[in-house]
Amino acid sequence: MVGPCHTNCARLVLSAYLRGSFEAPRPYSRFRSEAMAATAKDQTILVVGGGTFGLSTALQLGRRGYTNVTVLDPHSIPSALSAGNDVNKTVDGGNLTSNTDEGYIGSKLLAASVEGWREDPVFKPFYHETGFICAASSPEGEENVVRRQAPDQAAPGSMIRLQTAEDFMALMPKGALTGDFPGWRGWYKKGSNGSGWVEARKAMQSAFHEAKKLNVRFLTGREDGDVVELCYEDGDVTGVRTRSGRVLKADCVILAAGARSSEIFDFQQQLLPKCWTLAHIKLEPHEIELYRDIPVMSNIERGFFIPDLETGELKICNEFPGYTNFVEDAKTGKKASVAVHRHDIPVEAEDRLRSYLRDCMPHLAERPFTFARVCWCTDTPDRAFLIGRHPTYKRLLFATGDSGRGFMHIPAIGKFIVDAMEGSLDPVMAKAWKWRPETAVDRDLGDRQGRMGGLRRPQDLSEVNAWSKERVVKA
Ligand SMILES: Cc1cc2nc3c(=O)[nH]c(=O)nc-3n(C[C@H](O)[C@H](O)[C@H](O)COP(=O)(O)OP(=O)(O)OC[C@H]3O[C@@H](n4cnc5c(N)ncnc54)[C@H](O)[C@@H]3O)c2cc1C
Repeated sequence: MVGPCHTNCARLVLSAYLRGSFEAPRPYSRFRSEAMAATAKDQTILVVGGGTFGLSTALQLGRRGYTNVTVLDPHSIPSALSAGNDVNKTVDGGNLTSNTDEGYIGSKLLAASVEGWREDPVFKPFYHETGFICAASSPEGEENVVRRQAPDQAAPGSMIRLQTAEDFMALMPKGALTGDFPGWRGWYKKGSNGSGWVEARKAMQSAFHEAKKLNVRFLTGREDGDVVELCYEDGDVTGVRTRSGRVLKADCVILAAGARSSEIFDFQQQLLPKCWTLAHIKLEPHEIELYRDIPVMSNIERGFFIPDLETGELKICNEFPGYTNFVEDAKTGKKASVAVHRHDIPVEAEDRLRSYLRDCMPHLAERPFTFARVCWCTDTPDRAFLIGRHPTYKRLLFATGDSGRGFMHIPAIGKFIVDAMEGSLDPVMAKAWKWRPETAVDRDLGDRQGRMGGLRRPQDLSEVNAWSKERVVKA
């Protein structure tokens, strides 16, 4: 884990200056009051990470008239590291009542996101409100589905009970689903209630282009876009240092580096990077029409699939509590889960993906994968986002802790992040998303955090003894 550079920054600025790589700091509002600094439109803002949260934030900052915003990312946008950089993602937030803070936040967030998917020209073209099948294979799984989806509280007729293989098969054209659906039970949530899927990569590209039009700058590449540490002065964060040694000063640093956030700042165990697996299967030309406009089919213990009609492929993800990758930090000697990006998946994950296919589409189960990769998220202990200012370093704002459920919110999450920056975030959200290391004391790293499937516990990549690379046709 990279530590702070309190004393190093002045030295690095000097050496960068001597090497000619130092960018003279734009005037940053050292002497502004905190409240003024939070809303001044000309303040220097650095967004670390141009993934799902970072792009949404950049777009919103541009829309609110901030004139001095730079996004840093080690890769061109959308980044190869971003969990959002994927052909498609699901949109479905369960059926939450507003009786609890969690329900209130989930409903408000989802309503804002669905409004964005439906109305915002940046996102609208990429939204497919085709509905959602939420199923499970065991009685415990079914209880979990009931907790998340609350079918008894849904509007009459909006959720249809599914109890037999025929019930599932009737939801798609003949020939799309061919399995026995062993033990599967669930519900079908019709389209028009906000659930379905989105073209994720295209939505990210669209947000990126719109942010650029609004004069947000993007500094990408391994040297100048890769932030290795934050810089500190007078007890606050004053900027970042990139891999090249370049120091960029700022009035506000928004840390949105996804699973790598905890490599840049010590989150005191509030963030636990974990990865999941996905693969693509090519459809025959005559099969593509079968999968047009179909609902997402998700089994919380097995997996889900979404079609990519442009390439004629199905994307399949398996459901399980995720893999960590614990390594010892050379500097501190502490163990931390660290993201490693690979374009292959553990053989056991491949087996589970194929087992899911055997349940519902056995005619596709043995086809070679055309693409496979691991994809990294970062879990907070309670799986609520981590969005807000640091209690001590007031110029530092977090926009991370996606906990595996962030992409659907790309149209709206930036609004809440910028609200947090401006000090106007809904107080219920602010309380749930704040810096909260007390929730991570003695954190149980083996907690499955409400997820099901697989071994019903997180695994570590060190337990994996074979990777599927040789079997992937194209990566
Ligand atoms: C297999 C899988 C399937 C998923 N399916 C869904 C779904 O169906 N629906 C849904 O809503 N969500 C889904 N998610 C979750 C969703 O993708 C994430 O919650 C979301 O993308 C996280 O956004 P983020 O901005 O926090 O991180 P990311 O999108 O990962 O962005 C982090 C960014 O930070 C950059 N970065 C990293 N290190 C540095 C550094 N040192 N300096 C500067 N920049 C840096 C990266 O390049 C990247 O661009 C899925 C996740 C996985 C893994």
